[in-house]
Formats: sequence, structure tokens, C-alpha cells
Amino acid sequence: MKSLFKIKSACVLCGEMTEQEVSLCSECRNDLPVVEYSCEKCGLPLSVSDQSLCGQCLQLKPVVDYTHSVFYYESPIDYLIGKMKYEGDLSCAAILGDLLLKSVKDIKQTPDVLVPVPLHNKRLVKRGFNQSLEISRAVSKQLKIPLDTQYVRRVKPTVAQQTLNLKQRKQNIKGCFEVQAKHQLYKHVVLVDDVITTGSTVNELATALKEGGVEKVGVWSIARAVLK
Ligand SMILES: [Zn+2]
Ligand SMILES: [Zn+2]
Repeated sequence: MKSLFKIKSACVLCGEMTEQEVSLCSECRNDLPVVEYSCEKCGLPLSVSDQSLCGQCLQLKPVVDYTHSVFYYESPIDYLIGKMKYEGDLSCAAILGDLLLKSVKDIKQTPDVLVPVPLHNKRLVKRGFNQSLEISRAVSKQLKIPLDTQYVRRVKPTVAQQTLNLKQRKQNIKGCFEVQAKHQLYKHVVLVDDVITTGSTVNELATALKEGGVEKVGVWSIARAVLK
């Protein structure tokens, strides 16, 4: 039987008790570093609202059609992501998934499917879970968009992108993904990732999807890092 009383839990950031469904109090939630204006294509934060594309996207035309990154990759978002990824704290995945859901729930163009950026099997085994899949769950369930974890496979193990510069990142990720050709064809796919840094990974993935016949590829991510 479902309890009539709301279960309280301690906020993961400040420790105060909260009745929110996930362990993040409303005060801490309101304090998060939301990206207000960003490049439509790559999600890079922009300082003014009257611009829709950043300088780099005007020049380079990325394969990804649009990116929605909710937060800047800074405190306390980096802490929540780190706690999920490296300490295996799935309550943080639930918090991040809920934040993503609240941010995309009114988006007009609903994709056919959500594809969490896949991990290579070796890393999946080591970590025990795919963080992108974990943060996709609430969005998929609440917005009724199917999740497909079989559509694309990561066929090449890679060095962690954090350690590389832009050129090395592109090289490192090249040819990494394989679309399952026999699989059902989608027209509009949204890739879900925890952090977007240069966009190399999602662009490589979008390239593979478009070669496989997908027409539109968007990205939803919790955070957008800005390379200094
Ligand atoms: Zn709090
Ligand atoms: Zn851009």
C-alpha cells in the first residue's frame, strides 16, 4: 500500500529534509547554474539572446541539428554528475533525470526515440551502468518517448575524452559507433548525454545515424562544459 505520508529525504546538496520526489530541496534546485541563452546547434552558452548560433557553428556546420543543455558544467552540477558516475550514486542519476525532464517537458518537437550515448562494453562492465541511460529513464517514462539502447553500439574502446584536446577528441571517437542496420528506422532521434564538452562524440554519433537514414538528430544533455 502506498503511504499517505510523503517520505522525506535529505537534500544531497544541503542536507535539509525535503518532500521533493528526488533528494534535492527546492532552494538548492532554484540555485542551479541554468544556461539561459545558448547556441541552437551546439548548446554553447551565449551572452546575448539575439543570437541563435555561435561563431563556430556558423563556420563549421555541425551534423547535430540542435542541442539543449540544461546547465553549465560547474558547481554543484559537476558534483552531482561525478557522484553518479564515479561513486555509482544512482539517487543522483534520479535527480539529474528529473532536472532534465523538467527542462524538456514543454519542448514542441517530440523525437521518435531517445538514444542514450552508448558506452563501450568494457567501460559498461567496469562502471556497472550507463549514466546516460539512467538520466534518460524519467524523461522516457513521463513524456512517453521510447528508449532504444540497442540502436547504436560503441564498437571501439576509446581513451577518456577529458584527457584530449579538440583534434585528438575527433580522432579518438572516429568510427566508434555502429548503427544496427536491421533495426527499425527512426526519423527524429534525440541523443541523451550527461556532459557535452566539444560535441565530438555526439557529432560522430549523429554522423553514423544520418548515414543510417535518420533525418534529424538532436541532443539533450544535463550540462555543457565550456573549454577554456
Ligand atoms: Zn538543498
Ligand atoms: Zn554552436
